[in-house]
Amino acid sequence: MPKKKPKKPKRPQKNWKKFWKLGADEFNTQFFGVNKDGELTATEGHHIYNLSDLAYKYGTPLQVIFPFIIEDRLKDLIGYFQAYMKIYGYRGKFFYHYPMKVNQNKEFILSLLSEGANLEATSANELWIVKKLWEGEKFNSKIRVLCNGPKTDQYLDLIEELRAKGMNIVPIIESLDEIERLSKYKGDIGARIDLNIKTDSHWDKKFDRFGLSEKDALELNKMKNLKVMHYHLGSQIKTQKSILNGIKHAFSMYIQLQKIHPSLDTLDIGGGFGIPYEKKKFYTAKGVSSKIIKILKNLSDKAGIRHPNLIVEWGQYIVAPAEMTIYKVLSKKFIPKANAKAWYIIDGSFMNDIKDTWAIHQKFHVIPANNMHGALKTTWLAGSTCDSDDKYTAGGNYILLPKLHDNQDQFVAVLDTGAYQDGLASHHCLLATPLKIIARDGMIKIARKRESADSIGKLFGWNGDPK
Ligand SMILES: *Cc1c(COP(=O)(O)O)cnc(C)c1O
Repeated sequence: MPKKKPKKPKRPQKNWKKFWKLGADEFNTQFFGVNKDGELTATEGHHIYNLSDLAYKYGTPLQVIFPFIIEDRLKDLIGYFQAYMKIYGYRGKFFYHYPMKVNQNKEFILSLLSEGANLEATSANELWIVKKLWEGEKFNSKIRVLCNGPKTDQYLDLIEELRAKGMNIVPIIESLDEIERLSKYKGDIGARIDLNIKTDSHWDKKFDRFGLSEKDALELNKMKNLKVMHYHLGSQIKTQKSILNGIKHAFSMYIQLQKIHPSLDTLDIGGGFGIPYEKKKFYTAKGVSSKIIKILKNLSDKAGIRHPNLIVEWGQYIVAPAEMTIYKVLSKKFIPKANAKAWYIIDGSFMNDIKDTWAIHQKFHVIPANNMHGALKTTWLAGSTCDSDDKYTAGGNYILLPKLHDNQDQFVAVLDTGAYQDGLASHHCLLATPLKIIARDGMIKIARKRESADSIGKLFGWNGDPK
């Protein structure tokens, strides 16, 4: 059978914003647009940033952080939950805890704190950041910090130190080995339960190693200070149904646990709310928050128990849209017989800077940052490392980008790179990490300078005299 010819790409007619899927709440691009010269813009209130100008001015690879997007999203999310609690007569309290591992950059964490986020840490080193903020009196002392992950002695010591200094810090029991030491802990504690249900996400459910099994959890002796029941189903959950099934199943565990540990009054539903990376129809935070509250209200009323306080740790959902990564196309190569006509080689690396493209073949929303009105070409993108896997092909499909012009730089923007990519970033072929700038209140600040050969070399022991 003859191979099917790839579909001819659509040409934008006049609605450029729509063509590039910008300015749309459902894709989290409501802040982005195209100006009359075909350049990508971001709008903060009445201020407009021109991303093409920024790429020219600061050079590429470039990462742009938009704190106002973080603040806007968190404010909306807290607003939804609080509004639905009121509407449905829900008497538990709502708490947002930011999972620090999603993006530990200072500009992210400080913006989240300014909107009232509590924190969730995964390691002693993340908790060290919390300690620095606490010692600098940068916190409202009402903040609560949850501590997940396996507890090394160093981690436990730090938890106890911060509690002794007056912080509301809650270690979450991750395995049976932690129970003995944590049973002596003076503050509130939580337990993570590995719920026995299937979830639509990139997560190894069959061999999940996190938390206590349901059976082990139900066999725990009474703990007077057990306050939080926590679960986390995985990241980038594909369907609303999976999220809601998690809530229902967790609630059945919650009532059983509460009979043994009457102090239990808080349900922590973890993270997992996804991002519409593939630009397909996706569930919404407004819709899901309404359903969660409705379900918890009905189930608690039926069981005759107090409505649990609710903790939500949706990380990726809040921060992914707040950062974009911009590259310049260095050169072009013809591809014979493929879904795309040309490789565009970029001046950075997918493998290093946007690791999920390589590790879990995550798709991203990729658009040009200039020439958005020009003629288009079907392309695949290749990074600058020597690895054949350092590429982005939108899953073997193609990425539509402008044709290249002599004497004019072509910039490519990858949206939604604010979650996980920074913490996972690496230095394959010793390429430098992108320069990071902050766009806030109409001003641009350099947050992290471009790494030099010298500073990267030092990471590998090349200090001073190369002998
Ligand atoms: C990773 C993680 C989160 C955040 O998950 P997202 O998919 O980014 O929402 C929340 N809680 C725990 C315990 C996690 O491990």
